[in-house]
Amino acid sequence: PPVYEQRYYFVKNLVNQHGLKKIADLGYGDATLLWMLKYHRCVECLVGVDIAAQPFEWGGGRLSPGVGGFIIPRELDLTITLYRGSVVQKDSRLRGFDLITCIELIEHLDSEDLAKFPEVVFGYFSPGMVVISTPNSEFNPLFPASTFRNPDHRFEWDRKQFQTWALDVGKLYSYSVEFTGVGDPPAGAEHVGYCTQIGVFQKNIAKATGSSISEPEEHVYEVVSILRE
Ligand code: SAM
Repeated sequence: PPVYEQRYYFVKNLVNQHGLKKIADLGYGDATLLWMLKYHRCVECLVGVDIAAQPFEWGGGRLSPGVGGFIIPRELDLTITLYRGSVVQKDSRLRGFDLITCIELIEHLDSEDLAKFPEVVFGYFSPGMVVISTPNSEFNPLFPASTFRNPDHRFEWDRKQFQTWALDVGKLYSYSVEFTGVGDPPAGAEHVGYCTQIGVFQKNIAKATGSSISEPEEHVYEVVSILRE
C-alpha cells in the first residue's frame, strides 16, 4: 500500500494492540484515519482537530453512521467530535485521552508554533500515548525532485534531528519514546531509513498518577460536528 495508507495502518494496529478507547487525531485532514478507527470495537470516543476543519458531511459523509454500523452492531457507543482549532491552543476537552496522533502535522508548524506544541500536547493534553509522524529528509534524494515533499512544509528533519527533538520533549514531559517508521527504502538504499519517521511516546507511570484535576475547563475550539452512534 502507498505510504500514507501505511501510516494509517500503523495507528490502527497500535489502537488494536493496546485496546485504546479515546483517541484524538490532530490535523485530521480529510478524516481518513478517523474513518478507519471508527470500525474498531474498542473505540468509544474519537476526536479530530484541524485548523481547516470541515464538518463530516463533507467528503461524502464518511464519518456518518455507516452501513457497517447496521450489519455489525456495536457493543459500545461511539462519539465522534470534530473541532476547528490550532494544536497550539489549549482546550480542556482534549485532556485525558489514551492516544493522540499527529500524522504529518508538525512539519506544517512554523517555529513559533512548533515551540508551543510540546507544552500543549504533552504538558496539557497529556495523553497516555502520542504518535508523531513526519517526513525523513534522508529519504528525499530517492525522489525525482529532491526538495521538500510539499511546498507547505516548514521543515523536513533527518532522523537525528527528529530523534533529538523527540527525546528532549519526552524528557521534559516524562514520556519514553521509541522510533520506527513506514515506507521501506528500495534495495541498496537501506541506509536512508524509512520514508516516514514515527515516534511513539508512552507516558511514564509516575506522571500518569499525578493528575491535575484542578485545572479549569477551557473551551477554545469550535465544534464543527458531533456524531453519536
Ligand atoms: N493527518 C492527515 C493525514 O495524514 O492525511 C492530514 C495531514 S496534512 C499534511 C496536515 C494537516 O494539518 C492539514 O489538514 C492542516 O489543515 C492541518 N494543520 C496545519 N497546521 C495546523 C494547526 N496549527 N492546528 C491544527 N491543524 C493544523
